Amino acid sequence: MIETDVLVVGAGPAGLATAIALRRKAADGRKPRVVVLDKGRSPGSHVLSGAIIDPSGFKGLLTDEEVAKMPVEAHVVKESFRSIMLPKLSVKIPWVPPMMSSKTFPVASLTKVTQYLAQIAAREGAEVYTGYAVTDLVEKDGRIVGAKTGEKGLDKNGRRKSNYLPSEEIRAKATVLAEGGCGILTERLIAEKGLQGVRSQTYAVGIKELIEVPAGTQTAGEVMHTFGYPADFTTYGGGFTYHVSETQVMVGYAYALDYRRPEIDPFRLFRRFKATAAVQRHIKGGKTVAYGAKVIPEGGFYSAPKPYYPGCLIVGDGAGLLDSLRIKGVHIALQSGVCAAEAILADDLASYETRLHATSGWREMKRVRNVRAPFSIAMPFGVMAAGLAWATFGRIPWFRLPGLGESDAAELEELKPGRLEREAANDVPSGPAMPDRLTDVFMSGTIHEEDQPCHLKIKDPARCEECERRFGSPCTRFCPAEVYRRDEGRLQIDFSNCLHCKTCRIKCPCGNIDWTFPQGGDGPRYTRM
Ligand code: SF4
Ligand code: SF4
Repeated sequence: MIETDVLVVGAGPAGLATAIALRRKAADGRKPRVVVLDKGRSPGSHVLSGAIIDPSGFKGLLTDEEVAKMPVEAHVVKESFRSIMLPKLSVKIPWVPPMMSSKTFPVASLTKVTQYLAQIAAREGAEVYTGYAVTDLVEKDGRIVGAKTGEKGLDKNGRRKSNYLPSEEIRAKATVLAEGGCGILTERLIAEKGLQGVRSQTYAVGIKELIEVPAGTQTAGEVMHTFGYPADFTTYGGGFTYHVSETQVMVGYAYALDYRRPEIDPFRLFRRFKATAAVQRHIKGGKTVAYGAKVIPEGGFYSAPKPYYPGCLIVGDGAGLLDSLRIKGVHIALQSGVCAAEAILADDLASYETRLHATSGWREMKRVRNVRAPFSIAMPFGVMAAGLAWATFGRIPWFRLPGLGESDAAELEELKPGRLEREAANDVPSGPAMPDRLTDVFMSGTIHEEDQPCHLKIKDPARCEECERRFGSPCTRFCPAEVYRRDEGRLQIDFSNCLHCKTCRIKCPCGNIDWTFPQGGDGPRYTRM
């Protein structure tokens, strides 16, 4: 058993901010031992975001010199907002709504920023270890007292191989969960201890590619935000193109997982988005070189869980910390890490929530607290609510607007005849900037040792048969990595393709997927997402 003062689970921005602040803010001679564990192969390898970063999150965490040295690709110099209505028809909003503007903000690869934060954390004396999945929390007398890492070196039948490594228990005075959106330990703790927010969390799946374009055709720092097509009127969806250099464009599309039609395939929507005239202008002649996907907790203020349980704090995406209008959370994640560190150093973990609620990030979430729900009724309601909330500093409407259902999975309707065929007919032809799903998966670098237990466990195969009849096995479409497919009348799972995005855990209409951890170090290997 290992003993430490603080155990941080997850080396993303929130976890590393916690580690850096803990080491920096403690008095000399009283610096706590901080152990950070991450299931990815290296820091940032499981981190994916837009990412135009609101720099307010670095205040009080990094020095001006460190911020200046951050591996930023460009700064936003030109910004536009477009409503896409049809593949060839879009309308430029004459001005960028002030609440959405990110002029001068850094455009970065969050993977690279995370690597940079990990270097600072290590320099400050935090111990950052990657390749370790933390699979269980340890509780004693109503308090979290640490966690356990998963075993490594099991074969597909669960037998020990020659490289077997047993589970290790780490005891800590404080455990900080920084697992990101839909983290397994975080979700378990929230469910078991009744920490849910006023409303259940709602997610979007974000799909992103890095595309190399010919030199001389684009401007570094030009960004475009879009809403509308290919999302339907009742589903929250939007995309972006960010020119990170003259020759590289990040293209992303986020689609809310409370969508209703089971024939929907977010990856196909992403391709349709890329094929629109509005996006083609930015990627013409390009070639995709990297790919990734991840869920975004976009419920905002009303879906944020209670982030404290005795001995344990939740930071970042796991605590639902996201501005659901701007779809920005990195700055709030960093602020939450600093608040968690301050609460730990004050030996008053319960004060974390009050500290968090005093941050500018939390006030921002409160201001747009009524934005997300009306979007699920219809797009115009959402746009109206967004404008009203912003103009009145969130005072109108003063009550909680209805609109979101019990869970994203529960929103799915039964499959109607002919719908699958109609959806498939809209597919876009493949090309260098339009790879098919498996080519994209290859570019994510995801790797899982084949001879290990499958980490995606079907709870009851009979439910899959019923699901096939009612919903047409939607996992074969909503998974952005083609992990699920029906073959010879049975559901097959190619777990080695998995990107750890967690969409299947959220959207399976029968709650039939138990997402367990593959061995540490496996999964996507993002290097520039
Ligand atoms: Fe349906 Fe879930 Fe089974 Fe897939 S895993 S077929 S979504 S029940
Ligand atoms: Fe995402 Fe699940 Fe597919 Fe893995 S299997 S990529 S977690 S949807």
